[in-house]
Amino acid sequence: MNGDIRVRFAPSPTGYLHVGSLRTALYNYLYARKVGGKFILRIEDTDRTRFVEGSVENLLKTLKNIGLEYDEGPEKEGEYGPYFQSERTELYKKYADELINKGVAYHCFCTKEKLDKMRKEQIANKEDPKYDGSCRKLTESEVQEKIKKGESYVIRLKIPLEGEITFYDLLREKVTFPWNMVDDQVLMKSDGYPTYHLANVVDDHLMKITHVIRGEEWLSSVPKHLYLYRVFNWKPPKMLHLPLLLNPDKSKLSKRQGDVAVEDFLNKGYLPETLINFVALLGWHPKGDRELFTLTELVKEFSLKRINKAGAVFDIEKLNWMNAHYIRHLKLDYIINRSRTYFEQAGLDISDDKKYKKIITFARERVSHLDDIIRQSMMFFGDLEFSEEDKRLFSQKTSQKIFLYWIRELNNKNEWSDEEINNLVKKSSEELEIKGKDFYFPLRLALFGSSHGPDISIIIGILGKDTAVSRLKNCINPE
Ligand code: GLU
Repeated sequence: MNGDIRVRFAPSPTGYLHVGSLRTALYNYLYARKVGGKFILRIEDTDRTRFVEGSVENLLKTLKNIGLEYDEGPEKEGEYGPYFQSERTELYKKYADELINKGVAYHCFCTKEKLDKMRKEQIANKEDPKYDGSCRKLTESEVQEKIKKGESYVIRLKIPLEGEITFYDLLREKVTFPWNMVDDQVLMKSDGYPTYHLANVVDDHLMKITHVIRGEEWLSSVPKHLYLYRVFNWKPPKMLHLPLLLNPDKSKLSKRQGDVAVEDFLNKGYLPETLINFVALLGWHPKGDRELFTLTELVKEFSLKRINKAGAVFDIEKLNWMNAHYIRHLKLDYIINRSRTYFEQAGLDISDDKKYKKIITFARERVSHLDDIIRQSMMFFGDLEFSEEDKRLFSQKTSQKIFLYWIRELNNKNEWSDEEINNLVKKSSEELEIKGKDFYFPLRLALFGSSHGPDISIIIGILGKDTAVSRLKNCINPE
């Protein structure tokens, strides 16, 4: 146990929670719980142009629905708050000024037009686009004059012009970047807000973060961050950059190819248990070849050493398989409760608890996400609709005989056990001398709306005797 270990999930509220972000959050959570450290949630909301109204609320709700509890963060103030970067802007300003005073950052007055032109020219010359450093050369008095004139400016970091930087990523070991590949990063924007890079480093330091675990897309930012740690004279945290999430064709997982928002998965009836289990295996592998884990079991098994280097393919078939497993095996009452909203949305009456329970018992064996439970249950509600062809089948003599026989027999008593229905199936088929398709197709179609499907005893068990009889009556002499 190491109570000093502090990790964080630091999402930017730009809309929804991406499954990749859920994985980042989960691995941080698992690591913190495993070692007895702290898991912090920090909202990185300083990019006002990308801010989406309602996304923080949505994010907090989704994390809660998924079951990832944080120790410090919004609505759970700890020693190191506030946990919204937009409430910490004074701090970033102070640190940016400190960098200016130290001579490791500078004011840059270049206009957007100038920067666009610079970029275009560099691309045309087949150079990597990068700030050319013109404002590095401004003297102190030139800078003061421009500020006095009210010229708009940003603050940039003075990246070394030569040499290289080597650092250790827990997954990759040694990583080296030449400094000339690194841009003079903007730290403070002209609107007075910090960029991600400054705010992130300042906060990781002030919040005493010991391990940064995040997506691989941030690996190339590490040199800038480490340079900031160096000039502030702060100890950097350990870092681990998680492999990319990929589509089956190995392209980067994107919204275009399907769902990526955790809330969309939840709405479709993917269970939190499934999402946690599935996402845990995207880039991490347990010791054996076991695949099913609860969150508590994951905490026990988790180790940073078992994170994979290669990108992880998001396999929707596997997700469906796993969800179907959980829908079938978690407590029936839990599935009953989670399914309620789909029936309500579909306007189906589930006030008969006994019937509803039977429906879920039946339907949960047949779905891989809960929103599909409606399709598997529709036939137990309301009146069935039949095609002309169905009606032709009903009007056959043998079908009418079966219906009359069953109406008569079923009416003999109110409660029927599965076994009694099964016996009736046998008895009626023998007595009427109607067998196989000729027997089952019309009977099942009349009761269930489809000639294929579950046993007659299951159908009647759910419908109850009265509904079964009235459905059969509807099929007597069809027009
Ligand atoms: N705010 C960044 C994001 O949205 C956080 C990256 C990091 O963890 O440093 O992904």
